[in-house]
Amino acid sequence: MSAFNKNDLYSEKPNHFGYSGLDRAILFRDDKNWLNKLNKKRTKIVPLWNSLNLFSKLDKRLQAPKAIFPNYFDIGKHLNERHHIIFLGTSTDKVSETFFICIDFSNLSEIEVNSIFSQYGKFYDLKDVSPLIDIESGSILAYSNGINNWHKKHSFCSNCGKETSISKAGHQRNCLNKNCLLEHFPRTDPAVIMLVHHGNKTLLGRQRIWPEGMYSTLAGFVEPGETLENAVAREVFEEAGILIKNIQYHSSQPWPFPSSLMLGFYAEAKSTDIKINKNEIEDVNWFSKEEILYFSDQGKFLPRKISISRRLIDDWINK
Ligand SMILES: [Zn+2]
Repeated sequence: MSAFNKNDLYSEKPNHFGYSGLDRAILFRDDKNWLNKLNKKRTKIVPLWNSLNLFSKLDKRLQAPKAIFPNYFDIGKHLNERHHIIFLGTSTDKVSETFFICIDFSNLSEIEVNSIFSQYGKFYDLKDVSPLIDIESGSILAYSNGINNWHKKHSFCSNCGKETSISKAGHQRNCLNKNCLLEHFPRTDPAVIMLVHHGNKTLLGRQRIWPEGMYSTLAGFVEPGETLENAVAREVFEEAGILIKNIQYHSSQPWPFPSSLMLGFYAEAKSTDIKINKNEIEDVNWFSKEEILYFSDQGKFLPRKISISRRLIDDWINK
């Protein structure tokens, strides 16, 4: 059973990538023999290859793709000691328990990986496919990508530079240098994202690198020694010169591209005169609910439905 049900999440629907339905079974990670104890007939693999995930092939009939989780029983023979196996958690239905593990196959060439997986589907970028798949599958893939991104960058100890080894079923790395022995844990980078409002208007901006016409809520990373509220107020002032009050938490969204956790807020503007910081943002402006509803008439558009920024905007418009 999962520790929480999505219906219990303060009566709101979880954001995309935010509900895998898996019980992470954290105590299981302490067992060094965990892999041998899995029921291999009930174990599903989440394969990764060069940060891409496995989906059913997109076909001409435009059927929605599905995330593919092959059985360990069928794939196990292709594994060797170079493959790191990470335990993700368990999923339980009325009759049985299914174990989920993820494995990065990036050490294989395209030909080699296709020889194993082409019978199941094709590897695509989760960011491209995610609007088409269900939240549970998308969240399992986001979880897999996030923890794999961390492993890829932590083969060596950041303290002494020597090699690290994988432990705790893939949720820890230990420095192998006897004079260091530092333990490393997967990191998540908190970022705040906030909808600032003033009466019927909200503050939206755009980055130079975004597709032309896209406007979204302001956002930025939390710095060391800073509260989330400080980060929200600092980012809004830095980018738009606007002072805010009544900062309210809304919801969060894992965004493992490579390792962010987006923390969504609403805030009320105390001032309305914008002073754009062009080094940080290309444009920022006040938009009424009506203007946003007819954005396409001005050649503008909002971020995709799967993003927390869109959720903040849609919930505010529908209030
Ligand atoms: Zn070390």
